[in-house]
Amino acid sequence: MSTPIPTAKVEALRDTFESGLLENTPLAQYTAARIGGPADFLIIASSGDQLAEVINTLWDIDVPFRVLGAGSNILVSDQGVREVVVLNRAREVRFIEDDEGPKVEAESGAMLGVITRRSVERGLSGLEWAASIPGTIGGAVVGNAGAYGDDIAGMLEMVEILQRGIGVEQWPVQRLEYAYRDSWLKQHPGEAVVLKAVLGLKQSTPEECKAKMGAFVEQRKRTQPSGASMGSMFKNPEGDYAGRLIEAVGLKGTQQGAAQISPLHANFFINLGDAAAADVWDLIQLVRERVASQFDVWLELEVELVGDWEIMNSNVIHSLPGGQA
Ligand SMILES: Cc1cc2nc3c(=O)[nH]c(=O)nc-3n(C[C@H](O)[C@H](O)[C@H](O)COP(=O)(O)OP(=O)(O)OC[C@H]3O[C@@H](n4cnc5c(N)ncnc54)[C@H](O)[C@@H]3O)c2cc1C
Repeated sequence: MSTPIPTAKVEALRDTFESGLLENTPLAQYTAARIGGPADFLIIASSGDQLAEVINTLWDIDVPFRVLGAGSNILVSDQGVREVVVLNRAREVRFIEDDEGPKVEAESGAMLGVITRRSVERGLSGLEWAASIPGTIGGAVVGNAGAYGDDIAGMLEMVEILQRGIGVEQWPVQRLEYAYRDSWLKQHPGEAVVLKAVLGLKQSTPEECKAKMGAFVEQRKRTQPSGASMGSMFKNPEGDYAGRLIEAVGLKGTQQGAAQISPLHANFFINLGDAAAADVWDLIQLVRERVASQFDVWLELEVELVGDWEIMNSNVIHSLPGGQA
């Protein structure tokens, strides 16, 4: 169990945030997979200024927190989260034109789909690959989201960061130390928060952008399941695909409780109804062990585990129905 916030600090939180502090709130409703236990404390930030103010206050009273965007790249434990969860709903988007060309500046809680569609309507190209990614630009900056050969690292011109003990700074892309689905920010949760991002775009026409976006959306519909999920569960190992390996070890379609390895794409784990995080964890361990014993590859999670994950210290796979384990 991670430690609950001490009583004195809970009092400070209640005094400071008053009715803005929600207690014992189920997090499943704030995640794309619809899985996760309660947040002891939750604060919703509905503008960029509010987000910065909330984070600065939490640093001042020295209370740990976790920012959530759309919760589409995380698996929240059934035991929930002891840190304060800050739900980012700062969603302003504006378009800029300067000597270097068109750009979009978005607050970190803006949804990728919304930014993409607004760019496409203006005939501004570059983000079409992101049209169906159900996350915020903040989460995408942290995890270097990408698809079809493009990624955030390739488009990001500047990111506005609020850093503990330093304040607001504008960072060039190099400072984020990007790697495949990884960044300095991902390695330092609680140390810095993304406030805004500026992405470079190219002038095109609405028709061309729409055609490009439509092709990506179609391709996704054909190859990826539509149910509640976290997107790709594992990173692709060097030179291979996690989905291919999972399929090769015969686990496509395997179910534990209401969690299922998608029969359409084996790197997607679907919540068929009321899946528990523990069910998903069992499938994760089963996949890792089968793939390791057959291919000598230990699959690394792309999805982040958030909250109390005692279970991670156990390698026990709970028994799966039908002797699947
Ligand atoms: C159906 C589906 C398809 C997907 N397809 C893709 C894909 O093609 N490519 C891809 O890369 N991903 C994909 N994803 C994963 C996910 O949508 C992206 O990674 C997305 O960018 C995550 O954004 P989010 O707002 O949901 O982040 P969250 O899941 O809310 O958070 C992810 C991490 O970022 C941190 N974080 C979030 N916002 C901030 C902030 N403002 N400041 C600091 N830290 C922050 C969180 O603390 C957490 O550590 C898919 C997911 C689903 C469900």
